[in-house]
Amino acid sequence: MVVSADAGSRGGKAVPYKALLDEAIAQSTHKPESVLLVDRGLAPLPLVEGRDRLWAPLREQHLHAQVPCVWVDATHPSYTLYTSGTTGKPKGVQRDTGGYAVALAASMEYIYCGKPGETYFSTSDIGWVVGHSYIIYGPLIAGMATIMYEGLPIRPDGGIWWSLVEKYKVTVMFSAPTAIRVLKKQDPALLKKYDLSSLRALFLAGEPLDEPTAQWISEGLGKPIIDNYWQTETGWPILAICKGVDDAPPKFGSPGKPVYGYNVKLLDDQTGAELTGANQKGVVAIEGPLPPGCMQTVWRDDARFVNTYWKSVPGRMVYSTFDWGIRDEDGYYFILGRTDDVINVAGHRLGTREIEESIAGHPNVAEVAVVGVADALKGQVAMAFAVLKDASCLGDTQAELRLEGEIMKLVDRDLGAVARPARVRFVTVLPKTRSGKVLRRAIQAVCESRDTGDLTTMDDPAALQQIRDLVQTKNS
Ligand code: AMP
Repeated sequence: MVVSADAGSRGGKAVPYKALLDEAIAQSTHKPESVLLVDRGLAPLPLVEGRDRLWAPLREQHLHAQVPCVWVDATHPSYTLYTSGTTGKPKGVQRDTGGYAVALAASMEYIYCGKPGETYFSTSDIGWVVGHSYIIYGPLIAGMATIMYEGLPIRPDGGIWWSLVEKYKVTVMFSAPTAIRVLKKQDPALLKKYDLSSLRALFLAGEPLDEPTAQWISEGLGKPIIDNYWQTETGWPILAICKGVDDAPPKFGSPGKPVYGYNVKLLDDQTGAELTGANQKGVVAIEGPLPPGCMQTVWRDDARFVNTYWKSVPGRMVYSTFDWGIRDEDGYYFILGRTDDVINVAGHRLGTREIEESIAGHPNVAEVAVVGVADALKGQVAMAFAVLKDASCLGDTQAELRLEGEIMKLVDRDLGAVARPARVRFVTVLPKTRSGKVLRRAIQAVCESRDTGDLTTMDDPAALQQIRDLVQTKNS
């Protein structure tokens, strides 16, 4: 069964779902027997005879039904959540039931410090891992009320979240740095307009927390701002400040120290050797077994789980987070970005290969490279460079813009607007090594006006120059 609605609402506009859902079902190999639809009165809701049913009349019908619990093994899968990797094929992160519940219950006590009867407010989307763990299961397991907020943080104005904190006496709040950067552009008086005396702390995760953002919100709210680091795969924090476990105070720029249950190591990516000294950069890895709550496997692909996550560091069987990190002399970790081609746009994780696959679906695209480029608001944005099959439109600005628009629409449809590249630029050739590998890191360096490093393996220097010229024209 698929459960859906006629539409969602964003920025005051309805985003109709039904046509998207019907299209997805039409494309799927295993079609659902039934579709349960909530009609919110936001968009037309044509029903498919025999398959689609409306929620409201069924609710009336079953309102007083007593539904017994179904007991399952602790290892019974609770859900799969798809996340990006370095290939175009997202991985289905499979989570168990019992271990996840234990991990969340413990984290509510020792990391977020929420108490039964209080209210938790996570501003995430329930479709992302933070939403699963800390809008739904975590707070409810802890006996807390939870707020599901649909919409933007700046509508009707930048005070909406704080008005909810006042109204529902929120004690614990969880958001992402990117949302705070959005609020920074609003009137700072909105942070002082509401009674926030119930709020104990604001937790932020999902991407690096920069100092100006942390300071702005901490001063504005007069509350502790607490960073924590984790992934879809783990389901709860890997690095955090744990109360009553290790009473270390937070340190600016660091999400904290390894959470109990995680045996975190920094490893040399070339040799697999453990880096034990202070401030040495290595891959953040976790020695097995992973603690409760972490992924069990890749849905229906154990081999991929082992090969992707456990065999990427030479000579060792450890779980790789695919993040670079360092640890200072006091044991605090600092995350320095991904080791792979995953980018982080406004706290959302995207594989550049997925975006490339979508763009390559355009009939006039022969080849494309997508890279993540630093952005002041979103952390990173995707930037695409495409080689066309029929390049006759090159140089005709209107025609190029039209094509760019078509490609962006394609990405919107396949992956959602969050994955839409900030720009799609057209080139006649992509910079590659002599063995044919696209030099994405060099393209990224050029886009960020950084040094490209060693380019001796590059096949055709003119290819990178084309990109440099395009980027410079844009900047000027
Ligand atoms: P996701 O699976 O979408 O939650 O993305 C996980 C990735 O986001 C991690 O592998 C990191 O690259 C990044 N990330 C999450 N939390 C933090 C944080 N507190 N500081 C820095 N990077 C983070």
